[in-house]
Amino acid sequence: MGRTSSRSRGVGTVSAPRHLHDHDSGEGLLSVERARERILSRIAALPPVELPLGESHGCVLAEDVVATGEIPAFTSSAMDGFAARAKDVAGASPDRPAALRIAGAVAMGRAAEIVVPAGGAVRIPTGGVLPEGADCVVPIEQCVVEEGRVIVLQASEPGRYVRSAGEDARTGDLLVPAGRRLLASDLGFLAAAGLDIVLVHPRPHVAIISTGDELVEAGAPATEGQIRDANSVTLAGAVRETGAHPLPAIIVRDDPRGLRDAIGSVSDVADLIVASGGVSVGERDPVRGAFVDSGEVDFYRVAMQPGMPQGFGIVSGKPFFGLPGNPVSVFVSFEVFVRPALLRMMGRRLLFRMEGTARLETAISGPGEKTQFAQVVVRKSADGWTAASTGSRQSNLMGTASRANGLAIIPAGVEKLDAGERCTVMLFRDVED
Ligand code: AMP
Ligand code: MG
Repeated sequence: MGRTSSRSRGVGTVSAPRHLHDHDSGEGLLSVERARERILSRIAALPPVELPLGESHGCVLAEDVVATGEIPAFTSSAMDGFAARAKDVAGASPDRPAALRIAGAVAMGRAAEIVVPAGGAVRIPTGGVLPEGADCVVPIEQCVVEEGRVIVLQASEPGRYVRSAGEDARTGDLLVPAGRRLLASDLGFLAAAGLDIVLVHPRPHVAIISTGDELVEAGAPATEGQIRDANSVTLAGAVRETGAHPLPAIIVRDDPRGLRDAIGSVSDVADLIVASGGVSVGERDPVRGAFVDSGEVDFYRVAMQPGMPQGFGIVSGKPFFGLPGNPVSVFVSFEVFVRPALLRMMGRRLLFRMEGTARLETAISGPGEKTQFAQVVVRKSADGWTAASTGSRQSNLMGTASRANGLAIIPAGVEKLDAGERCTVMLFRDVED
C-alpha cells in the first residue's frame, strides 16, 4: 500500500460537481474503496475441505452437488387413509358412496408387500409406500370404516394424495450449486439426498494480537494509566460473527521483537492475523517498528474516520492486518476491511453488509475530506428507516458502538448532513422497531 492517491480539490469552487467530491479526495489519503480493493486483491478463498454435513452449516459449498438417486426415493401417500384404484371410486359421493374391501395395511418405514386388488383398498399412513395396484389415496376424513370394508364418500382421480418418487429431484439433477452458503434448508435437502460429507470452504482461524504497554487483560484490575484490553474481545466477537474461529488472544508490549515472536507463534495455526494498536507514527509503535522497513506490511492513511492509519500485508504467508488501537477504530476497521477479507476466505461472494437509506434524526458532521462512519441507531418508521447518532465521534468511546445497530456513511467531501436529510447506513444488527 505504498502508493497513495490524491485528487486536489478545486480551490475556490463553491459547488463542485459531485464526482469531484468522491471518496478519492483528501490530500495524501487513500480512499476507503481503493484501500479495500488493494487488500481484497491479495485475499483468496481457503482451499476446500471435506466436512461432515452437520458441521458445514454456514460454510460455502465448493462443488455442485448432484442427485445420485431420485428424491423422494419411492412413491408414497400424502395423507392418512386408504390406497385405492381411482376408477373404483371415480363416481363416489355422499349420496352414492363406493364400498371397498379392506385388503390389508401398509406399515410405516416398510416396503409395501401387498397389492391393492380391484374393488379393494389398503390402509396407509402419511409417508407409507404406495402399494402396487393403487394409483390414489382416499383420506380417512372422506371414509367411513366398517367391519372389513371402507365406505368412500368422495370421488378421486389417479395421483390424488400421492407423492411421486423423483418429484423433488431426479438422478443427475443439480441439488445445490457450488457457491451456495449452506443454511438449514440446504442441509435438510442434502441430508434427504443421502449426503453425509460435503466439500466446503473452511472457517479461517484468526489470530488476535493486542499491542500496548498500558494493556491489562479484560477482567483484571487496572491501575491508573492502564487500559483493559477491549480490542481482543471485540475482535474475537466480530470474527465469530463472520463464522470464522478466533484463536486465544495475545497481548504484546510496545516492542517490535515481541510482536514478531507473537506472530511467529501463531503463523502455523492462523489463516489470518489481526493486531490492534501500534500502527501510528509513535516511536514505540510496535507494528510500525516491526515492519516499516521490511516491506512485508504497507502502512497507509485511509480517508476514513475513525480508522485512518492502517497496516496490511502478508506476514509469514498469512494476511496481516494492523488496525489502529482505539476501540471504535478497531470495530469500524474490522467492518470495513477485515470482515470482507474473512468472508472472501470463506468463499462468500457478497462481502459487504446490507446498506439502506435512512432519514437522519440528528445532524452528523464529517471530517470533510474523509468518509465518516458514524455509529447510529436505525429504527423503522412509517416512511422508512430513521437513524440517530449514539454519541460523540471520539474513537475511544466504545459505548457509542455498543448502543448502535448501524454505521451512517457520510461520504468524503460532505461536511455535514442535517437532521431530516437522507443518508446511507450499513447495518450490523437488526433494525429496531
Ligand atoms: P495506539 O494505536 O497504539 O496508539 O492506541 C490508540 C489508543 O487506543 C490508546 O489510547 C490505547 O490505549 C488504546 N488501545 C490500544 N489498544 C487497546 C486495546 N487492546 N483495548 C483498548 N484500548 C486500546
Ligand atoms: Mg499503542
